[in-house]
Amino acid sequence: MGQGMSEKKPVRPHPQSGRRSLVPGAGIVLAVILGAWLFWPKGQAPLPGVTYKPAYIEAAEMLHLAQVLSSDALEGRAAGTAGNEAARGFIHKRFEEIGLLPLPGFGGYTHTFPIVPREADAAPIIGANLIGFIPGRTPGEGPALLITAHYDHLGIREGEIYNGADDNASGASALVAVAEYFALNRPEHDIVIAALDAEEIGLLGARAVARMEGLEMSRVALNMNLDMVGRSEAGELYVAGTYHSPGLVPVIEALAERAPVTLLMGHDRPEDGPDDWTLQSDHGVFHQMGLPILYFGVEDHPGYHNPGDDFEFLTPDFFVRAADTLVMAAMAVDAELPRIYSLRRNPAAETDQPEGNAE
Ligand SMILES: [Zn+2]
Repeated sequence: MGQGMSEKKPVRPHPQSGRRSLVPGAGIVLAVILGAWLFWPKGQAPLPGVTYKPAYIEAAEMLHLAQVLSSDALEGRAAGTAGNEAARGFIHKRFEEIGLLPLPGFGGYTHTFPIVPREADAAPIIGANLIGFIPGRTPGEGPALLITAHYDHLGIREGEIYNGADDNASGASALVAVAEYFALNRPEHDIVIAALDAEEIGLLGARAVARMEGLEMSRVALNMNLDMVGRSEAGELYVAGTYHSPGLVPVIEALAERAPVTLLMGHDRPEDGPDDWTLQSDHGVFHQMGLPILYFGVEDHPGYHNPGDDFEFLTPDFFVRAADTLVMAAMAVDAELPRIYSLRRNPAAETDQPEGNAE
């Protein structure tokens, strides 16, 4: 069981409506409380349940961030809540620590966007994406790679906290781990790193990225999206998107031969019906814009979208292997980005993204 966390989660009746309004500063208080925890020993300490020695990522840092993001204290990180704000604070701190640049032309990582809440009488919500930039060999020129992962989750429902350890504390912390590798090892092409908000209520963070000023979507050759990459007893990681861009198949086939997980292409055909993941997370927005996508995620498991999606149920050895595989995938895509750019289907449809109405 988790480090003294299993006896957590008393059922606390929280009135839904109160929670949705933005509580200025509460997140900061939470951040301070958890800050002490954040400095809990890391480094070379043996990682419980991890035998694999990663070649590319800092496993202790990644697991620690995933544990913090999925802790009860962040109360399921629903968009517009104090827990969501605190989660953003931790990711922001990691962006700084690994030396990510803001997007050219911007002074910081945070990009807010309005969200129209589902409930008519609810207060407006401000969503916030964190976007960092890693320059390639010719910054500002040529094709670019957009790597995304959402950090929000479902919050508290009927008094139960939905911690979303796999969905998507795993993807958000893997995103930081991948970014750290390229911040230390300059890629061939520019890479945009985006920790997205409000995925759970309509892919709203991704829609905000698609229509934002100052991010040249016309240069983006491919979106790589990470959502649920930390829990697989079978050791299997799926990649969806090659059905729509067959030119990506040789890249993934070569990667699958070297990857420290079982990497499977699939879940992207219309005939897959409800198991077609093409539109089921943030990559769906970029797919609809005609961009090639590679979505990495595990097969659904019992924790999916229920209060049981906790850190102690992640499979850490697989999680670390999956994160190494994600670095290898980004390296492989980076090496062929000019060719991959030619796989874009319909550049004209770039801007018609609808406003941020919560689903
Ligand atoms: Zn998700």
